[in-house]
Amino acid sequence: MVWDDLYASAFERVRRSIESIERVLLAYNTNIDALKYLRQKDLEDRVEKAGKDEVLRYADKLPKRIDNVPQLLGSILWSIKRGKAAELFVESCSTRFYMRQWGWDELRMGGQVGIMANLLGGVYGVPVIAHVPQLSSLQASLFKDGPIYVPKIENGQLGLVHPKEFNAEEESCIHYIYEFPRGFRVFDLEAPRENRFIGSADDYNPNLYIRPEFREHFDEIASNVELAIISGLQALTKENYLGPLRIVKEHIETLNGKNVPVHLEFAFTPDERVRKAILGLLDNFWSVGLNEVELASIMEVMGEKKLAEKLLLGDPADPIAVTEAMLTLAEKTGVRRVHFHTYGYYLALTDYRGEFVRDALLFAALAAAAKAKLGDVRSIEDVIKAMDVPVTEGAKTVEEILIRKYGMKDGIADVDSYQLTFIPTKIVDKPKSTVGIGDTISSSAFVGEFALR
Ligand code: ADP
Repeated sequence: MVWDDLYASAFERVRRSIESIERVLLAYNTNIDALKYLRQKDLEDRVEKAGKDEVLRYADKLPKRIDNVPQLLGSILWSIKRGKAAELFVESCSTRFYMRQWGWDELRMGGQVGIMANLLGGVYGVPVIAHVPQLSSLQASLFKDGPIYVPKIENGQLGLVHPKEFNAEEESCIHYIYEFPRGFRVFDLEAPRENRFIGSADDYNPNLYIRPEFREHFDEIASNVELAIISGLQALTKENYLGPLRIVKEHIETLNGKNVPVHLEFAFTPDERVRKAILGLLDNFWSVGLNEVELASIMEVMGEKKLAEKLLLGDPADPIAVTEAMLTLAEKTGVRRVHFHTYGYYLALTDYRGEFVRDALLFAALAAAAKAKLGDVRSIEDVIKAMDVPVTEGAKTVEEILIRKYGMKDGIADVDSYQLTFIPTKIVDKPKSTVGIGDTISSSAFVGEFALR
């Protein structure tokens, strides 16, 4: 009951103040997600045509990357057989052409920048400047209307235009997502659970390609923004990370020099060396957002193996272990705000105090529930439609543990020299969509917090 009151008043406050945010910079990853819902007959015919024996080899062992059609089809079968997700880079032009001709059922905005641009600019009406590595007309068509801008250089001058007005036929960075439901059959294979295989025909985002406008005019771009959110570092590898991260570091330093708070939206980064390098940049960030798997992966490279294991044990994750991990992260890197989200609750650890931290989390949780419930959130008014989703029961125990351990009151406690903020979330039973929900949570909370200051 108390939480519902807090939810309602937090929403009102953020809705009234969010227009005060002048501009948010979003960099670096934007792409096109092309969804294809697999059909048995179609897939079987394609496998036969490509050579069943050859294809089945890859259903047993995934290739490192996709160089031909049998590898593509085999990798899809690999995912179906195990009900596991996998993502591989598609190198060959002819396979890319094959995927394009095979087509899609649905196109969606992809990449954290694209998703956050549509939410902040297209739904909340907060002006954003987005980094879009390649802007084809297909990519442009996925941007919502609203104050969404990309830099464009004309006569040596930096201008800002909506992506639909950029009008430069660049390449399409397409992530082909082949989805299958639980029980999907192909030959004698049956999917034990629903999942997807992703073939990415994208030479830009995985290498963290940074556009010339951003390399040559970054100082001016940074002068035009009040906040920044960085994402898309996760796909880098030990072979290609050094150059891009050097530019990212320069960008963050430029933003810091102009007192622009920068949030890092962390995503699972398989390469440990890259993960460590990102950790090394954290002292330049104001804030970082992550889930339990991502926090555990960071604890691992910080040498906190026991703590990492503990984070992944409980469901929901043990809040004391989470708090310890957040403290370790904040103390060792100097990042000022750590925002943790998991199924059922969020925590924020900040080196500053105030109820606005909690209210921003509540707004974010309402936005996440609205997205899960409605699929598409069209305006900020839609967010309140999630008020009738109940606060999850599972979070009660979490709250009690935090009250006992830290004397938390109304979701707020003092822990060492930090404020620890907790909220229980509203969980939608049968969600319409959970794609990009993590990005919704982190960007709503970060921008909401500054709106409330
Ligand atoms: P993704 O990368 O898919 O966005 P994340 O792990 O970053 O995934 O974010 C998922 C978060 O979304 C969870 O931590 C949880 O808080 C929230 N969430 C997931 N399912 C629901 C749901 N049905 N209703 C409300 N929130 C949800």
